[in-house]
Amino acid sequence: MKVFKFGGASVKDAQGVRNVARVLEAFKQDDLLIVVSAMGKTTNALEEVVKAYREGRNAKPLILALQGMHASALEEVAPEDGDSSTALMLSFEALKHYVTQPVQHAEDRDYDMIVAFGEVWSTLIVSAYLNASGFANQWVDARKIITTDARHRAANVKWDRLEENCATHLPSFAAQPHRIVTQGFIGSTEEGITTTLGREGSDFSAAIFAYALGAESVTIWKDVPGMFNADPNKFPDTRLLAHISYKEAIELSYFGASVIHPRTLQPLQRKGIPLYVRSFIDLSAPGSTISEATDHDTLIPSFIVKPDQLLLSITPRDLSFIVEENLGGIFKLFAARNVRIALMQNSAVAFTVAVDDTPRARQLIEELGKEYEVRYNEGCELITVRHFDEATLASLLKGKEPLIEQRSRVTARYVVK
Ligand code: ASP
Ligand code: MG
Repeated sequence: MKVFKFGGASVKDAQGVRNVARVLEAFKQDDLLIVVSAMGKTTNALEEVVKAYREGRNAKPLILALQGMHASALEEVAPEDGDSSTALMLSFEALKHYVTQPVQHAEDRDYDMIVAFGEVWSTLIVSAYLNASGFANQWVDARKIITTDARHRAANVKWDRLEENCATHLPSFAAQPHRIVTQGFIGSTEEGITTTLGREGSDFSAAIFAYALGAESVTIWKDVPGMFNADPNKFPDTRLLAHISYKEAIELSYFGASVIHPRTLQPLQRKGIPLYVRSFIDLSAPGSTISEATDHDTLIPSFIVKPDQLLLSITPRDLSFIVEENLGGIFKLFAARNVRIALMQNSAVAFTVAVDDTPRARQLIEELGKEYEVRYNEGCELITVRHFDEATLASLLKGKEPLIEQRSRVTARYVVK
């Protein structure tokens, strides 16, 4: 079994849906499990539905716009498929009904319940089109397979449930090859309450399915031809990372490279399942292979530049030393506010951190201000370079003022203004 993942950009309209079949042409003989995200910007639109519902506004116009878009895509790619068209319509009715009920659950639970519809709709359409065009397949509800805890919007997978769920809920196939179309991003608690794995979580879903089924590989089909040593949209002369290790890819995504969802790699590494990142536009491009092999990791410097950083310097008001007791309290506040520390450094009397400039971070500054003197620098950039060389560092730092510099053997990091 191969696991394929198609993201929202690859299925943003009827033409995108047709392109999925073009990609599959070369895999006609393979058993496939195909994970699909919501079409285009549907998840963002559904977040607006959640807001409207929670604020007591009428969410129906927003839903009708989504219905128009999805229904016409289905009509375009599978006009004869009455069953799928009915299933799509019923799904929209269910959502419309949901938002007319009085609010009775926590907001995060409603969020998961509502945004999960996007993946249901896209997979109904992709599955219908593939069935209509000679790729017989079964639509499967991912929530039957991916059991999670009830931590809404960032649910944790119950790994030990996967095997049994697959045995019970995956269809038995009469014909060869076996093809399944299912949703990324969504799961469900043991009680059947819908959960989600966090924004952009469909890559992670593909890895979960691959882990559960002992798949031979996972391929993420993207609008870029692989993983690069820097963001090709921001830098000239970027280079493809043709082969990199799980470990290196985990580090890169941890430091902010956005090609793969950071949680995707661990389950694949545990079972030694290779991950391919390939272009759904240029099918002849070889893409990137991520596997155990580390021998190519050090060949090219990779760099990640995160804009909009706040550099906070936290000092006890009585100028006492920054010691473990203080740090413990400070870390607790960061964790409670869900503010992630991207880089940290301490001196005798100050603890300095870089964080994304978000409303949560601003609130945290106020809270820290009760006990500490907090000074901050806004509009900073955090530059991370793996396998650095002096030429790369010089070109990245040109014309910038470094406020913090940290270097280890493989990684150089700077906060610059
Ligand atoms: N549709 C979800 C999102 O946009 C999940 C994904 O695309 O991976 O965040
Ligand atoms: Mg998406």
